[in-house]
Amino acid sequence: MKKREFLRMAGLMGVAGLFGSSRLRAADLEPIEAVTLRTGDFELPKLNFAFDALEPHIDKMTMEIHHGKHHAAYVKNLNDAIKSTPFATMELEEILAKVTDKYPAIRNNGGGHYNHSLFWTVLSPKGGGEPTGALAEAIKFNFGSFDKMKEKFNNEAKSRFGSGWAWLYVDKKKQLAIMSSPNQDNPLMSKLSKQRGTPILGLDVWEHAYYLKYQNRRPDYISAFWNVINWEEVSRRYLKGLEK
Ligand code: MN
Repeated sequence: MKKREFLRMAGLMGVAGLFGSSRLRAADLEPIEAVTLRTGDFELPKLNFAFDALEPHIDKMTMEIHHGKHHAAYVKNLNDAIKSTPFATMELEEILAKVTDKYPAIRNNGGGHYNHSLFWTVLSPKGGGEPTGALAEAIKFNFGSFDKMKEKFNNEAKSRFGSGWAWLYVDKKKQLAIMSSPNQDNPLMSKLSKQRGTPILGLDVWEHAYYLKYQNRRPDYISAFWNVINWEEVSRRYLKGLEK
């Protein structure tokens, strides 16, 4: 939303009305589909918030480097790697579903592009708290409680050795499950990952995601993450994951 339009709407609705509307907040997001449905020439998606908006939980410089250097490099390297391969005409999710260990550059950079595109959308300066609705019910059903899910997710994120991701995902039986993956793998990689499904919440536990602010204290970064989770977006992905 442009600043002028924001002010116009804020005037019409009142600022409280604007921020209170989940519909408007969801519309502000650039859905991951916008970047995954392109073929051949992937692009770095824009963030829906300023680089410093997640302070103090995730710092400005980390966000600038993470998005502008790391993610940008995955996009460039993916575009280079798929040229003159059968992957050049595929959407990103199809690339991930079909990639094998014979194509390490496509595996790593395709995963890197997808994972970071998802990551930015499940973060929000207005995030935190707990989900509501169908996702909240599913968490209770599959894990017993929100806190038990959180504990399991945190344990996966803490114990992933070296670089990787922790995931909350919808498995093949349409149940919620938790896993972690090495490097840039994710549960969409059906030829590479033992646990398969649709990721709905991901946490990057590579050192580049937290080292400037947290150094070796990965558990502190993991705790801070829960203050900026955009549950509206995770819920949207949950409902889409059920349809697949
Ligand atoms: Mn990263």
